[in-house]
Parts: sequence; C-alpha cells; structure tokens
Amino acid sequence: MSKTTVDSIIKEASELIAEARHVTAFTGAGISVESGIPPFRGPGGLWNRIDPSYLEIDFFLRHPLKSWEVIRQLFYQTLRKARPNLAHRALAKMEKAGLIRSLITQNIDYLHQLAGSQTVYEFHGTYRFLRCMSCNQRLEADEKWLENLPPACPACGGLLKPDFVFFGEPIPEVASQKSFIEADVADVFLIIGSTGEVYPAAQIPQIAFSHGSKIIEINIEPSNYTTSITHLFLQGKATEMMKRLCDRLNLKI
Ligand code: NAD
Repeated sequence: MSKTTVDSIIKEASELIAEARHVTAFTGAGISVESGIPPFRGPGGLWNRIDPSYLEIDFFLRHPLKSWEVIRQLFYQTLRKARPNLAHRALAKMEKAGLIRSLITQNIDYLHQLAGSQTVYEFHGTYRFLRCMSCNQRLEADEKWLENLPPACPACGGLLKPDFVFFGEPIPEVASQKSFIEADVADVFLIIGSTGEVYPAAQIPQIAFSHGSKIIEINIEPSNYTTSITHLFLQGKATEMMKRLCDRLNLKI
C-alpha cells in the first residue's frame, strides 16, 4: 500500500471512530506478535512446528503429562515474560478517552489488562488461572503449581488445566454472551490481528457487520474478513497502524 493510500484510510478510520456511538475492538493473536508471542496461524505460526492436538481436550485428559510439558513451555514460559506493546496501550488509551466502549479478545495473554484496558471480554479464557477438572476450583497459575507436572489440585488432588479454551471445549458463558451483545450494539468494529479462521469467535465481527457495523481491520496480510466484511483495511503491523490512528485522533501514547 502506498503512503498516500494508508494516510487516506487512516483519516477515514479515525473519522469513523470519532463519530461512532459504540466502538468495539476485537483482537487476535496478531496484536501480541510484537510482544514476542507467536500466533498459531500465519507467518511464524506455532502450528508450523507444534502438533495442535496437545491442545485438544480429549488428548489432554488422556495424556495430561505430555500436554502439560508442551503447554508449560509454549505458554507459561513465554507469556509470563511478555509485556504490552504500543497497540495494546493505544487501545487502553482509546478506551480512557471514551473512543472505545469494549474490547473482545481471543488472546489468553492478559496483555490488554496489563496495558490498562478495563472492559475486556476474554473469549478464550486466560492462562493466568488454572481450573480443577474434578472439583472446578479456580486458582492463580502460580509457578509453584507447575513445578511437578501434571499439576494437582491442592483441594482434591484432581487434574489442573489452564483456564483457557482447548479445542473441543465450550466458550466461557459470560464472555460469550457479552461478546455477542457487543456485536449487536457496535456501530464500528475494529479488528486487529485475527485470521477469522477460529470459530465461533470468527462469527462475532460477521454478526456486527450484518447488523450494520462498519468494519475497520488491521493485519499484516489479508484475512478471511478482508474481502468479505471489511470496509477499511489497514495493511501493516498492529503497532504501526495503531500509532498512526492515535496520532490522527490526537491521542498521545
Ligand atoms: P489468529 O486468528 O489470532 O491469527 C493471527 C493473525 O495475526 C494472522 O492473520 C496474522 O496475519 C496476523 N498478524 C501477525 N502479526 C501481526 C502484526 N504484527 N500485526 C497485525 N497482525 C498480525 O489466529 P491464531 O494465531 O491461529 O490464534 C488462534 C487462537 O489461538 C487465538 O484466537 C487465541 O485464542 C489463541 N492464541 C492466543 C495467543 C495469545 O494469547 N497471544 C497466541 C496464539 C494463539
């Protein structure tokens, strides 16, 4: 995209945001790539080198030790070190300025909250908690629980699982309900770094579109949304595009 084209899309996007009644942001793994967290799909994606079945609930229940060894290394060792980047901070700033009403994230990394976003719906749960598969107790994913794998519940000895959604598991009820409500009410939807391949999450922007919402999308490459529902496509890194959007909105990050 030429500089002039990007400039004019940024201008249009900032006007849409500034004039909107209810803007909702929707983020995927792409927003956290510049915080050092690889996505699953797309360039540098984890599925190019790791078997996704480690994150299937049936496999986890049959082989908890094998799953946990991969999960600890992939998620707990990487995510604990990651810090929010400019794109996370920009979204928090936009919320504070009253420009964004809510944020739906498919990410489990807690970086939006660390950046200061308040109204965050974690559609796929979070890595920061563990849940007991026997008594349902939820506890913070403190390192001490992960020293001996697979981790056992201190209350009943049952198997502890990260409190994020595995393949084959339902979406957390509250986050799901709230997200679909946001898709109903938003008049502008800002999608950042999502392939649109992971269902049911991928339906949320589609519902917003079918209810008349304008769709702004930021991604380094076209996604499933780009040619189907996106009105304004900003091709580039999340941090770069969010910086330019915030500059245009006179927000200092
Ligand atoms: P995704 O739909 O989240 O895809 C990642 C997208 O990000 C791709 O379209 C890619 O082109 C884009 N992208 C990559 N770098 C970018 C950048 N710098 N700026 C903007 N866009 C960029 O799909 P996924 O990676 O397959 O993840 C699927 C699910 O797995 C997620 O919804 C999430 O639940 C989980 N996941 C979470 C994290 C995390 O918490 N950070 C990381 C990986 C996967």
